Amino acid sequence: MTELDAVVVGAGPNGLVAAAALAEAGMSVLVLEAADVPGGALRTEEVTLPGFRHDIGATVLPLAAGSPAFRAIGLDREGLRFAHPETPLGHVHAGGATLLHRSAAQTAEELGRDGRAWLRGPGWLGAHWERVAASVLDPTAMPPHALRELLAVGLHGSAPATFTNRLVFRDEPTRALFAGLAAHSTLPLGAPLTSVFGVFLAALAHGVGWPVAVGGSQSVADALVTHIRSLGGEVRTGHRVRSLDELPEARAVLLDLTPRQIVQIAGDTLPSGFRRRLDRWRYAPGVFKVDWALDAPVPWRDERLAGVGTVHLGASSRSIAESERRVARGGHPDDPFVIAVQATAADPTRAPAGRHTLWAYCHVPNGSSHDMTDAIESRIEAAAPGFRERVLARHVMPPAALEAWNANLVGGDIGGGSADWRQMLSRPRISLAPWRLPIPGVYVCSSSALPAGGSHGMGGWNVARTVLADLG
Ligand SMILES: Cc1cc2nc3c(=O)[nH]c(=O)nc-3n(C[C@H](O)[C@H](O)[C@H](O)COP(=O)(O)OP(=O)(O)OC[C@H]3O[C@@H](n4cnc5c(N)ncnc54)[C@H](O)[C@@H]3O)c2cc1C
Repeated sequence: MTELDAVVVGAGPNGLVAAAALAEAGMSVLVLEAADVPGGALRTEEVTLPGFRHDIGATVLPLAAGSPAFRAIGLDREGLRFAHPETPLGHVHAGGATLLHRSAAQTAEELGRDGRAWLRGPGWLGAHWERVAASVLDPTAMPPHALRELLAVGLHGSAPATFTNRLVFRDEPTRALFAGLAAHSTLPLGAPLTSVFGVFLAALAHGVGWPVAVGGSQSVADALVTHIRSLGGEVRTGHRVRSLDELPEARAVLLDLTPRQIVQIAGDTLPSGFRRRLDRWRYAPGVFKVDWALDAPVPWRDERLAGVGTVHLGASSRSIAESERRVARGGHPDDPFVIAVQATAADPTRAPAGRHTLWAYCHVPNGSSHDMTDAIESRIEAAAPGFRERVLARHVMPPAALEAWNANLVGGDIGGGSADWRQMLSRPRISLAPWRLPIPGVYVCSSSALPAGGSHGMGGWNVARTVLADLG
């Protein structure tokens, strides 16, 4: 058998982007995927009723739309289309709803006396989003892609979100909005660097928008697979890799896996010190996910929310911080901070005519088996009286179901491991090329490597460039 240039284990966005980049460089590539359908957490399935297409994992894709890797690959040539809702985000708090508009100026107007501070932070970063995204998503680049933008991200993002809220913003609606953005970190909001999540996601909303993929996130994975195959690469599904020894001969092996699976398939080959490090890898809290098929749009009290893609539900900055702190300590909040997405507001192809889908999750302790369906629905019902009457069917995924669906979602962790500052500095090891494993020719390209979670494919892109350099 001829030796392959590269084998990629796992067909999530990072694995597929890595395979695409290597195939574009003329390399022979084989992707092996455990599931029957490629895409990892970008898969879309009809889990409620026929004709309702639900994104089981990622659904809002600013990171894909703004990713230097996706832009370089040019997936629009493979038919990928993004659809933008009228407004990226609405935050429902105790005082009503606050909108994050595509325009920073309009958002500043909405935020009243916090408007100027908003324009100085997320507004400025959004105006420079290409350089900001390149810097944040390729953080080990030497020299940095854009020093001024990187320093600005550090200035606005290195403090805990609670600190930014106390020092920078004055009004509670702005603070609740910012706390909700920062809570995407899945960290307690008093933790260092949580502001980065807030300013970066807000900047993307202004610079790129928060779109969904037409037809579902699966379209992104399908476009990548089509591209890889058009270049002669192979993507084989239904093939769970159990050991590195079973892989075909290859000059490079790229693992789109998290430390737990890496230990399972490469354990004996790993130097003992590094294996201990992977064994000690800290996973983040998990998510409890619900998808609904609806017979009509969500009946929001505030009608402006009808045109919003993502809706955050959290009464106040304090209650959001308390909800995330409680989860980090192993508890279950009665009134969890909820992230909901109405994809059909931007992409009506997801449901039969006149019908809608809704996607939502809240954070729960890693591996939790606590049923949060009622807590999530109660939050939505309070903001949209009559919501429950519109439900035709629901599909619920606690952490164990998510992990059974995709082994990388350990205990329901959607980011490949905690994104606290210590694990961000050593993801998964301290090095200028931290994705190079201490086994010759083996690399990790998943969200457990820099730049961590999200559907940007940059883990795969960065690793592919290292592989190309290593293989000469
Ligand atoms: C509920 C949920 C909501 C999310 N929301 C968003 C969002 O809105 N926007 C966003 O940008 N991101 C979101 N994310 C995060 C994003 O989906 C992930 O960060 C991203 O998919 C990580 O990509 P990856 O390639 O590293 O891994 P994954 O996408 O997890 O892919 C890993 C692949 O490896 C395969 N695999 C595992 N073990 C083996 C094995 N032994 N052999 C072969 N194959 C194996 C798995 O089956 C899987 O296909 C969400 C994730 C989830 C689960």
